[in-house]
Amino acid sequence: MSWFLLGGMLLNTFDTSLVSHDGNSRVLVVDDTPTNLFILSTLLNNEGYRVDQADNGESAIALAKAHRPTLILLDIMMPHMNGYEVCTQLRADPATAQIPIIFLSSLDAPFDKVEAFQRGAADYVTKPFQPAEVLARVRHQTDLQKARHQQNRLTLELESRVQERTQLLELAHSQLLEVALIDRLTRLPNRLSFVKRLSKVMAQSQIESSSYSLLFLDCDRFKRVNDSLGHRIGDQLLREVARRLTQLKETDEIADFVARFGGDEFAILLTQVPNKKTVVSFVKNMLRDLAQPFFLTGNEIFINVSIGMVWGDTSYVAAEHLLRDADVAMYQAKEDSQNQYRWFESAMHSQAVQLLELETDLRLALERREFELHYQPIVDLERMKIMGFEALVRWQHPKKGLVSPNDFIPFAEETGFIVDLGKQVLEIACTHLAEWEQAGLLDPGLSVSVNIAPEQLLQPDILTQVEKIIKTTGISPHRLRLEVTERSIIGNRAQVEEVLKALQLRHIQVSIDDFGTGYSALSYLHTLPVHCLKVDRSFVQPITHEASSLGIVPLIVNVAHTLNMEVIAEGIENITQLRQLKKLGCRYGQGFLFHGALPAQQAIGLLSRPFTDWADSLSA
Ligand code: C2E
Ligand code: MG
Ligand code: MG
Repeated sequence: MSWFLLGGMLLNTFDTSLVSHDGNSRVLVVDDTPTNLFILSTLLNNEGYRVDQADNGESAIALAKAHRPTLILLDIMMPHMNGYEVCTQLRADPATAQIPIIFLSSLDAPFDKVEAFQRGAADYVTKPFQPAEVLARVRHQTDLQKARHQQNRLTLELESRVQERTQLLELAHSQLLEVALIDRLTRLPNRLSFVKRLSKVMAQSQIESSSYSLLFLDCDRFKRVNDSLGHRIGDQLLREVARRLTQLKETDEIADFVARFGGDEFAILLTQVPNKKTVVSFVKNMLRDLAQPFFLTGNEIFINVSIGMVWGDTSYVAAEHLLRDADVAMYQAKEDSQNQYRWFESAMHSQAVQLLELETDLRLALERREFELHYQPIVDLERMKIMGFEALVRWQHPKKGLVSPNDFIPFAEETGFIVDLGKQVLEIACTHLAEWEQAGLLDPGLSVSVNIAPEQLLQPDILTQVEKIIKTTGISPHRLRLEVTERSIIGNRAQVEEVLKALQLRHIQVSIDDFGTGYSALSYLHTLPVHCLKVDRSFVQPITHEASSLGIVPLIVNVAHTLNMEVIAEGIENITQLRQLKKLGCRYGQGFLFHGALPAQQAIGLLSRPFTDWADSLSA
């Protein structure tokens, strides 16, 4: 180790073990004594620091601003501007305020450490100094400064990452919100948004007694559009309906909010409505708008809608109740062939509750096997013999007694319950048929007819269902006849044709029930494997002696014969009707003249006794 005394400084040039090499830090050395400047610079340079030099305060400040050194070694005693002043100015400037300063002070000069630190010094070294001490203090400060920079960089990085994450979260949140509140197909607000808005309007109306109204709109028979033109056009149509409703909302100031509830259902909220008349004229306007044809990829489509309306008064406290009532009113409008729109009335509510109860009751009835079958004989009018039975369902209700199918079949069809009910009916009918067959009670040609509702016939697994029942009961398939309606065929011709052909292959016969009351598109008949047409009783009932009373019955009989089908006239109640039908060549019939529907045991009993009473009068 070698010691030099230079310009008042004790310098150990080679003792570098105490300091680490640092190639990145830049140090500004400020001293008015050139020798000191030289020695300090050399010392630091040797250690790998980049060094700037200043021999007065002004150039020190200028250099500090320009280079932003990592550290400043600042002599206190300088002419013009001393170290304290330089320090004060550097601290005042944000660009240099953070640079650590080590004061250099001569031992013989007055040095106030307290003042030095108050002015912002990071450290101090007294002259003459040992190089090792200078380097140790410099290194300590540059390390500290580096750590500070590092920390600042990390903080900035963290902040930017937090910001990035926040943005991502905000984006995800807004996307989620959109999914939750906007209907994807039409871009209209959805049910949830509507309920929010409605709740707000309701709360306002409680305070201000302002009036509002809710409209619930449903497209009639929309399923047909989907079935016949495809879902793509169905979707386009819904978008167009949404567009027309939005336009209406934009032009009519009472229209506050339009939403799609899913499927073909839309809801409209009207606010600031002076009276019910305003609502009705809005609705009429809307109906006029929607009655205009829609032109979609070469198709001209017309739609019909039904609208339920609720007058929002202060008695309503929950949005859901308003929606429920609007829905009930909409269903009433749908059922009413005269009106496309209906106001909600409280009586409708109890009706809806009754229907709900009926649905539950029906489900229970199915489980408890409360449905039973009565059988009405179908008579060969030429031979005056029973050629078959029609199975007709009844509900043995624990409280109401025997309930007619007219009181629950239409509802069961509407709710889809008919599918399960129909299956049970088919099982019961085949069980009876099997018993009778096994008991040897049936002539070879005798059959049992079972009514099959449209929804049931269109079940994808209908064939499997029928086959399974035939197999488990062990009946001869040719004894089973299925009565399908014209309603099933319209709109689903291809599907029905396939099912009927498959039934034919299995030797199961098919009749078209209530023929003439539906769409009577005679053109489809010859392509379908149908064995029999049943003339609806509404055509039989008016028949008298008069030729004009026959209506379209001769036509139906002719069509059937031309197509090699049997004809069964339904609802024969008197001898005149029977005679006239026989004259027309109608071979088979059923009706109260012969017998109404009877429980299985009694019906089968009819086979053993002839219909003498009316047969006698027929020959008379
Ligand atoms: P439908 O299939 O046309 O059955 C004939 C209906 O006419 C039966 O009424 C029968 O009792 C009634 N009827 C028979 N002869 C006469 C008559 O001379 N005069 C009058 N006024 N009526 C007569 P029901 O049993 O009340 O059944 C009504 C309808 O309910 C049936 O009409 C059928 O559409 C439906 N239905 C009955 N059972 C079932 C079933 O198991 N499944 C399905 N899907 N529908 C059924
Ligand atoms: Mg029938
Ligand atoms: Mg019928």
